[in-house]
Amino acid sequence: MDKINIAIIGSGLMGRLLALYLHRAGYAIELFDKSDKRGTGSAARAAGGLLTPLSESLIAEPEIVNMGLVSLGLWPKILANLDGFTFFQQQGSLIVSHEQDKGEQQRFVRHLNKHWQNSELTTLDRQQLKTLEPELAQRFSSALYLPNEGQLGNRKLLSALTRQLEQEHINWQLGAEVSQVKAHQFCLNGCVKTADLVIDCRGTGAIGELPQLRAVRGELFQLLAPEVNITRPVRLMHPRYNLYIAPKPHHHYVVGATEIESNDSSEMTVRSALELLSAAYSVHSGFAEAKILEQVSACRPAFSDNKPRIKWQAGLLQINGLYRHGFLLAPVLLEHALFVISQQYPRLTDFTLSQYFAGLLTEVT
Ligand SMILES: Cc1cc2nc3c(=O)[nH]c(=O)nc-3n(C[C@H](O)[C@H](O)[C@H](O)COP(=O)(O)OP(=O)(O)OC[C@H]3O[C@@H](n4cnc5c(N)ncnc54)[C@H](O)[C@@H]3O)c2cc1C
Repeated sequence: MDKINIAIIGSGLMGRLLALYLHRAGYAIELFDKSDKRGTGSAARAAGGLLTPLSESLIAEPEIVNMGLVSLGLWPKILANLDGFTFFQQQGSLIVSHEQDKGEQQRFVRHLNKHWQNSELTTLDRQQLKTLEPELAQRFSSALYLPNEGQLGNRKLLSALTRQLEQEHINWQLGAEVSQVKAHQFCLNGCVKTADLVIDCRGTGAIGELPQLRAVRGELFQLLAPEVNITRPVRLMHPRYNLYIAPKPHHHYVVGATEIESNDSSEMTVRSALELLSAAYSVHSGFAEAKILEQVSACRPAFSDNKPRIKWQAGLLQINGLYRHGFLLAPVLLEHALFVISQQYPRLTDFTLSQYFAGLLTEVT
């Protein structure tokens, strides 16, 4: 029997994962991206790599938190199959606030205790914080600790996926801008191409073709801070902005916060930069001497409810709207997509995640 031909459009986060897994499942894959192997311009390359579902629970829907909790358990299995991937950790995350903002922290404790009783949330006093993250105890008298949260190196993941796609000789066309993505066909350089199944993973590149898809701008700095020794993801709770710090190996830190309803991915304003870096400095004075390696402004793809969608019709699968949770949710979305494809043209036309999630939860627990 001839192999099923699958064309995957977009090789950011979801496109690369799907290409690898579908190839391994025996489908004939062709991957197309308008950009390069590094993922320049993708949200995946811009991201912080936080895997912190409970920390997100104040602003994210319960389904997102639940899917994130399941995904956290799936990531090690995915990463174990990638040659040379180097940065994943699950040593918990910390939430801190300055004395005048302790009300925010208490609000978060009430929220977690009410909605997520199994969070294993612990309130650390200064001494306990000193044991876990000594340098944070210099500024903060207490912190909240969520022991199961994690993070991964998003750029290292993209590189490892690149290596794996190459080693497994998966057909990958770069600099290939695709338009008019439809069931069984799409347009490349003015020519209509066909496939048994087309998978649309273009992220914000699908705006205009996918109803209600919008861009939400995010900004962050990549810093090299030799004077800072923080080993876990940290969030600063503040009435106006939520700062996050994602530590990477060798004193590299990603410091991010802002979320702006805009499809503009041009450079950051001075105001944004001042707010972001001042907040980082308020967490650790060692950030004053940090070198700014990169300023990142990029857009996340989001639907109006900020929830991801996997939309199926015969010959076309669209996966989009991963918003600020792409890494957090990718394993669950990958499993879901593989399930739908392996079922070959199921009768459902718009499979909602919550339906699938119920099934997945039973399977995982
Ligand atoms: C600043 C920032 C911080 C973030 N931090 C986190 C975080 O800490 N944790 C987390 O879980 N998530 C985070 N995210 C979200 C995460 O990065 C996204 O949800 C995820 O990358 C979306 O994956 P995707 O594959 O749908 O899209 P993308 O990763 O954006 O990939 C889309 C790909 O499609 C290609 N493409 C687009 N249009 C076309 C076209 N016409 N033809 C061919 N190719 C095309 C692009 O070049 C790109 O490679 C962050 C995002 C941003 C912007």
